[in-house]
Amino acid sequence: DIAFINGRFVPWEDATVPIEDRGFQFGDGVYEVIRTYRGMPFELDAHLRRLDRSAAELQLPSPYRHADWRAWIDAGIEQAGYPEAKIYLQITRGVAPRDHAFPADARPTTVMTIRELHPLPDDTRSRGVKAKTVEDLRWGRCDIKSVNLLPNVLARQDAKRAGVFEAILVKDGWVTEGSVSNVLAVRQGRIVTAPEGPRILSGVTRHVVLELARKEAFPIEERYLSLPDLYAADEVFLTGTTVEVLGVIDIDGRQIGAGVPGAITTRLAAQWAAMTA
Ligand code: PLP
Repeated sequence: DIAFINGRFVPWEDATVPIEDRGFQFGDGVYEVIRTYRGMPFELDAHLRRLDRSAAELQLPSPYRHADWRAWIDAGIEQAGYPEAKIYLQITRGVAPRDHAFPADARPTTVMTIRELHPLPDDTRSRGVKAKTVEDLRWGRCDIKSVNLLPNVLARQDAKRAGVFEAILVKDGWVTEGSVSNVLAVRQGRIVTAPEGPRILSGVTRHVVLELARKEAFPIEERYLSLPDLYAADEVFLTGTTVEVLGVIDIDGRQIGAGVPGAITTRLAAQWAAMTA
């Protein structure tokens, strides 16, 4: 596994951050997760743009240029040598004596890890997964990919305890997204998913899948889905860097559609597989 701190690759055991890092004490930082396909980072520019945007929204100076990141990522992937890898990037506001307001002179702490990615088993993909709904307790800026993941952590644990794959977050009766994914449904032949905005993370996978859907001439409605409409959907699927396109066949013990990944889900998953092969 590869570790990198503040512009340098370091041995994994030495990859430590001081205890007064604001990421550790306040969750004052942003991150990205990127995966490789056949050794190539997928949609790297989109992830780096989102990292810059998240940082800017937190008034956090982005310490490196895309060209620097690209060079380090390429070097790290080569060094790691994994067939498929997940790349984690994190920028925090740096190390300073604990005080909520920004420190005057802290230098951002930048961290990267590259680890092996274990893809979901093929039969999980073909069968689809179960999910449960969980109240969306997050703050009003879910578009910022910040390291404050406590509500996502609790929701995901709730799902794990219930023996299901994903927690689908519901805010005031409306479906926002998953704890680690975006949620899309199919109703009357139309793909329905929450609009971009402060309530969801603007998923890179979501964006690419909606482009695939447009090419296939599937109608798309970016609007919030109510919980009863989610249960009544013909198909539900998740998108995300690690889940890719993944059918949901059961939510809160209610069967979705025919209880197998639906036709549009299957078509988009096949397109995704072809695109990344
Ligand atoms: N929504 C949340 C809350 C996430 O953590 C993620 C991350 O994977 C996504 C959506 C999907 O985003 P992406 O497709 O960019 O990985």
